[in-house]
Amino acid sequence: MPQTTSTPHVVREFAGSEDGILLVIHAGAGNRGKHDSPERRAQAEQDLRRALEAGYTLLEQGAPAQDAVCAAIRVMEDAPEFNAGRGAALTSTGLAQMDACLMTDDGEVGAVAGVTTARNPIDAARAVKEQTKHVLFAVPDTAQLESWGVATCEPDYFITPDRQRSLAEAQADGDEWEKHGTIGAVARDAEGHIAAATSTGGITNQLPGRVGDTPLPGCGTYANGESAAVSCTGIGEAFIKATAARQVADRINYGGQDPADAAAAALDDVAAHHGEGGMIVIPAHGRGVLAFNSEMMNRGWRSPDGESVQS
Ligand code: ASP
Repeated sequence: MPQTTSTPHVVREFAGSEDGILLVIHAGAGNRGKHDSPERRAQAEQDLRRALEAGYTLLEQGAPAQDAVCAAIRVMEDAPEFNAGRGAALTSTGLAQMDACLMTDDGEVGAVAGVTTARNPIDAARAVKEQTKHVLFAVPDTAQLESWGVATCEPDYFITPDRQRSLAEAQADGDEWEKHGTIGAVARDAEGHIAAATSTGGITNQLPGRVGDTPLPGCGTYANGESAAVSCTGIGEAFIKATAARQVADRINYGGQDPADAAAAALDDVAAHHGEGGMIVIPAHGRGVLAFNSEMMNRGWRSPDGESVQS
């Protein structure tokens, strides 16, 4: 584990109080990209607010943290602005091939990789967690999804003109790591339980079959009642090599590190693996943390202390 504890180039922000209900979300980190505009940022912020509203309302009603993160994720999956669900990034063959993961602080976890027909991939991840004895399903087909009661749709539903343009540009100009829009949520409920969820279309122009960090527990998504709930976004290969989400939890749990220092150090390790991006962290006890080493991260949080949304 690298010894770095303080990294000036990692942006760190804090959310909420030491205890009590809290919802923190992200919708991708990276560079702003050439299609950035005030209108697109305003749309992203509106969608982030709607996601916070959906998840936080449940926390206020006393619902478990996993219900809140799934509700927030579903709103963002349905928003074509973000790279998950409808509007997912497209593979080199023009397909939306999506990954999602849900993990709770009791160590239970469910994930899917390469799903093409689950209307809300997070629902498929939750079904794996709650209805099977397994952790990760690759390419579950429509029949499998329907047997779990997950709503399905045609693969075309996910494909938007914006993402087709991004794919055409990536194939014409060479890959460029722009703002991505993978989505994630971490929450602490009224009983003090925490959960993490992440959902993505991966990387524009990725080879068919490529899987990033998002559905891999401990890489892009992790939750542990002794430490923290973590959701990551950025260059998945680097987050996998750094086992970034688990690294944050272990730095807190075994290293006694402050959660913000733990996040910054894990992002340093991601950088050492030639990656950039960000993460959101809610410790079992302590303030939420939003950290990134890329140009930007779409992000927001809500607690009894207030709300913040930034893109
Ligand atoms: N981490 C995601 C992946 O590598 C992409 C992203 O967060 O933008 O699949």
